[in-house]
Amino acid sequence: MNIEKAPLDNKAKQKIIITRTLMAMGGAAVYSLLLLYCFYQGLFRGTFSDILMILTVGWAGYITIFVLILKGVNQRFKDKGMTLIQITWVTTVLMVSVYYIDQVRMIYLMLYLMVMLFAAFRVRLDGFLFITITAILGYGSVILLLSSNHPDRIDLKIEIVQWLVFAFTMVGFSIVGSDLSTLRQTLKSRNVELKAALDKVNEMAITDELTGIFNRRHIMNVLKYQKSLADRGDYVFVVCYADLDHFKKVNDRFGHSTGDIVLQKFAVLTKDVIREVDYIARFGGEEFLLVLVKTSLPEAIAVSDRLRKRIGKFSFGDLSPDLHITVSIGVAEYKSGELIEDLLDRADAALYRAKESGRNRIESA
Ligand code: GH3
Ligand code: MG
Ligand code: MG
Repeated sequence: MNIEKAPLDNKAKQKIIITRTLMAMGGAAVYSLLLLYCFYQGLFRGTFSDILMILTVGWAGYITIFVLILKGVNQRFKDKGMTLIQITWVTTVLMVSVYYIDQVRMIYLMLYLMVMLFAAFRVRLDGFLFITITAILGYGSVILLLSSNHPDRIDLKIEIVQWLVFAFTMVGFSIVGSDLSTLRQTLKSRNVELKAALDKVNEMAITDELTGIFNRRHIMNVLKYQKSLADRGDYVFVVCYADLDHFKKVNDRFGHSTGDIVLQKFAVLTKDVIREVDYIARFGGEEFLLVLVKTSLPEAIAVSDRLRKRIGKFSFGDLSPDLHITVSIGVAEYKSGELIEDLLDRADAALYRAKESGRNRIESA
């Protein structure tokens, strides 16, 4: 099962940053066109070279930021999206632009709401405060400059009302925007926690707690899959049913917890003997099932015997010098088309024969 929006890797994050920056540049293109339109409608106070200057310098900034992001320089910053830099730049260019358009200044500043929408994806409360203060001060400076440079062109009373409306709107947007941003962050970290929990549950569902190897349920699924591979042809696998000899006596003599350690040790030793591609599971109390893939019966018998010898020779001296463990193993190769239950029965029957013939030995079906 996959959780949507699981933590993204860096490459995916960088892709999102590039897409968002492109979107922001789209927004910048729209307001550049609007500014040009104002110029052609006679609403721009400056000359054509003024507007050319604003657009050239403005776009030089946007393009520089975009190139830095494309080159991955943004990864070195704490604010990886370079959001605050982008917004500061947009603010500067917008403020210079509105200095020149007297009649439509306020309506043009509505573009700012779009900037705030972008910010909601990236910026936290402190970032919003920064943007809001910059914008309010920026607009305030524009009014001050206008009142000293072109007092005839502005009505200060109206400008101040507009400035107040702008300021309140910005503050409102900041509060809602940062709420949104916090919500996104919470959701993100919840998803990370959920994914970790799910991974853990998935692992627990297939693992035997004592030994850390697969449990019976999972090895049955493995067997089903191996059967489907083998039934398609040109593929063989073998099961080895291993049962520790006289384990009850081990418990009786050395204690149950020593028995547990032996079971754990057996799992470790077995993993060491089989290959990475093979499977081992705890099938029952002191019974283990090995699934050796792409393996013939003689090979499996050889592996089982290696395991048997390894256990027989292993010194459990740190538990007790008198503790010696042996194992009996029944080996059966899968026959095309047979039921898993029949395969396991044959391995079990072989194991039974191994026990009957004196234990510490391998029998095959
Ligand atoms: P045999 O050689 O015929 O297999 O003899 P055995 O004593 O190993 O077989 P039996 O089935 O009679 O006993 C299995 C023992 O395994 C009994 C049980 O107490 C022990 N056992 C099962 N699960 C665990 C476990 O998780 N920890 C420990 N310490 N012992 C366990
Ligand atoms: Mg047993
Ligand atoms: Mg046993």
